[in-house]
Amino acid sequence: MINNKHESAALRQPFPTEGAFPAGADILHNPILNQGTAFSEEERDLLKLRGLLPPRVLTQELQAERALRNFRKKANDLEKYIFLISLEDRNEALFYRVVMDNLMEMMPIIYTPTVGLACQEYGNIFRRPRGLYISANDRGRVAEILENWPYTDVRVIVITDGERILGLGDLGAQGMGIPVGKLSLYTACAGIDPATTLPVMLDVGTNNEAMRDNPFYIGLPQSRLRGEAYDALVDEFMTAVAHRFPQAVVQFEDFSNHNAFRLLQKYRHHYRTFNDDIQGTAGVALAGLFSALRLTGGTLAEQQLLFLGAGEAGIGIADLVVSAMMQEGLTAEAARQRCWFVDSRGLVAAGRGDLAVHKLPYAHDHTPLTTFLEAVEALQPTAIIGVSGMPKMFTQPVVEAMARLNERPIIFALSNPTSRSECTAVEAYTWTDGRAIFASGSPFDPVELNGQTYVPGQGNNSYIFPGVGLGIVATGARHVTDEMFLAAAQTLAGLVTPDDLAIGLIYPSLKRIREVSAHIATAVAEVAYKQGLAAVPRPENLLAVVQTQMYQPTYRNYAHELAAAR
Ligand code: NAD
Repeated sequence: MINNKHESAALRQPFPTEGAFPAGADILHNPILNQGTAFSEEERDLLKLRGLLPPRVLTQELQAERALRNFRKKANDLEKYIFLISLEDRNEALFYRVVMDNLMEMMPIIYTPTVGLACQEYGNIFRRPRGLYISANDRGRVAEILENWPYTDVRVIVITDGERILGLGDLGAQGMGIPVGKLSLYTACAGIDPATTLPVMLDVGTNNEAMRDNPFYIGLPQSRLRGEAYDALVDEFMTAVAHRFPQAVVQFEDFSNHNAFRLLQKYRHHYRTFNDDIQGTAGVALAGLFSALRLTGGTLAEQQLLFLGAGEAGIGIADLVVSAMMQEGLTAEAARQRCWFVDSRGLVAAGRGDLAVHKLPYAHDHTPLTTFLEAVEALQPTAIIGVSGMPKMFTQPVVEAMARLNERPIIFALSNPTSRSECTAVEAYTWTDGRAIFASGSPFDPVELNGQTYVPGQGNNSYIFPGVGLGIVATGARHVTDEMFLAAAQTLAGLVTPDDLAIGLIYPSLKRIREVSAHIATAVAEVAYKQGLAAVPRPENLLAVVQTQMYQPTYRNYAHELAAAR
């Protein structure tokens, strides 16, 4: 066998053998089919590639080594991003080979933080379109646009309207970098076949005037569509997707919170859909709490949680915590009473007239409090969770108060990027004399304190959503339920080893992400079977079946495939 070519994996798009037979330059220009200089002598004849490639046949390993060397020579992270996207546009299997073999190095480039910069610069660095753009001008013809997508077997769609891109706000159509990057993570972390993924930009305009005024801005240079017209466009999209790609799960990403909660409630019981900012974040944070409890002892139902920030992340986490506490026997009301919020106007309490509807279940009776420190002293939480996007809000007095109130205070500073973190790892460990159980949204280096090393965990959503997506794809589950995220959180926490915990680490190493995703997918699939939502019968060895469905970036042997098809 030449190179390391393998037979196609279960979910791969078949090589088209009917109708117009792709050959020659059509193959080289199709990133899903292209293998560049790795096409074998036999394939070069069969696929009419002879002469279109330099004569020497390279292995994928050599191609990957060359790509990695060139990647590392780039002057900055944006250049590295451009290099990787260009590789993805030329040869997807090679792109995933490089990304998966060097995931820790590549993740910060293909996703946060570099993807944020890439979105800000999207118009300036634009080379080749990727995904589907559906704009406010397309009302009435969304189904037609979906027909233009060249693949029929779509399993995972990530859609954004670009209004709240990471911590960067409204970037309009340039937010397309987010669905593109997120879907790369689905493939790299959980083996979703890239040919079955579809990034979608719902371009409803932007209220970012600087962006609109840039002559290289790629989207509609108009202010955002709102109200009924906006809802009608999203409705049209969801209906058209259900018709054209009935097997697809639709993940909503980086919508601003006035739309995110609403759309989730509207669609979650009718379509196969979820919102990662709300539900995926909840899964990863709950997993962190479960792991922390392995260090502190006690049950989740005994905890008192205080959140800084009552947006998508905070409310999403609290809602899932409530579901988990109910599994431990609390009523919904009693569970909610254990979750408190401070937002930009102080303690979220009953009687405050300015509360958005998603905050109301957590508006408990209490005298008004303005500062977070006052809330810590009054409510005596066992855990504080920062999801405000406001840096430095876990001040020394706040953290010291937590250390006074708790033997092992749980401190999650989840705001991104690093510069927005509510406190740093060094601060959390130093101000608690090493007793804090700390996790953050962005990575922090290990901390040396009094001769001991503490390794902070990163509450990265990539631990959860790829595995959840794989579980949905593997079962064809009709809906995505809270129980699935609960199972994902429990599974993730269960994969943390005693050695991890010994150094304060409450998440498994990201190096194990494929294994983690396979286990999460299996747990999610079990829930789909239990809840009667699965579209396919349960196989005997679910984990093994899930694993065989995971894409591997190995080259296909077209000579074998074509011979078998004849
Ligand atoms: P959001 O805009 O929906 O919510 C932000 C909330 O913070 C709002 O309730 C707002 O009132 C509140 N807030 C703003 N200023 C405040 C202040 N000074 N004091 C107290 N509260 C204040 O945003 P979101 O999607 O919930 O994300 C919030 C943060 O969480 C972001 O920084 C994001 O990067 C981070 N996040 C991290 C993860 C993760 O670590 N896995 C996942 C999702 C979001």
